[in-house]
Order: sequence, then structure tokens, then C-alpha cells
Amino acid sequence: MLLPFAEDANCRGSDSEQFFIHTGASSKPAKAICKGCRVKQECLDWAIEYRMVYGIWGGKTVKERRRATRELVAVGVREPGASVLGVAEEASAVTGT
Ligand code: SF4
Repeated sequence: MLLPFAEDANCRGSDSEQFFIHTGASSKPAKAICKGCRVKQECLDWAIEYRMVYGIWGGKTVKERRRATRELVAVGVREPGASVLGVAEEASAVTGT
């Protein structure tokens, strides 16, 4: 499956093992690649939308994505269980991210 943002991704051509790390391994190398990625928000939204439980997406681990999702619900940007696609700009305005 080709992700809708894959063509512009910083990780394109990277070793996917950096992004799907084993317990205890550092997420820093993957996060460093994500840091300047111009599709970071789309990637994060996609991972939250499809409830990705493995890997670094949008520069965040699954724990960080769950926290981000809870924060979106807490500030009223997202209903529990609702889609986040298309609300990135609104979320950024609210959370300042
Ligand atoms: S944010 Fe990270 S994982 Fe997502 S597309 Fe960009 S480089 Fe790849």
C-alpha cells in the first residue's frame, strides 16, 4: 500500500527497521529523520486515524500518539473515536504544535 504522503516523506528509501524498533531500542534515529519532514502532520494524522500500534509515525511513538489523541479530545478538537484527518490545522491552532 502506498501511503498518500509517501512521495514527499523524509523516510522514503530509509531502513524501515529504524521506524519499527524493538522494545528498549532508541527512537531517536527515526525521530531525527521525521523532524524536518514536510509531511509530518499528515503522517501523524494518518497513524492516529488508522490506529497504528507499531512504529514511529509523524515523529511520535505509539505512546506519544495516544497522548496526542487524548489531548485533541480534551481540547475538543476530536470526538472520541472520530476521524482526525483534515483537522490538523485546527489542532495546531489549539495546541500550538
Ligand atoms: S514524519 Fe517520519 S515517518 Fe512520517 S513520513 Fe515523515 S519521515 Fe516518514
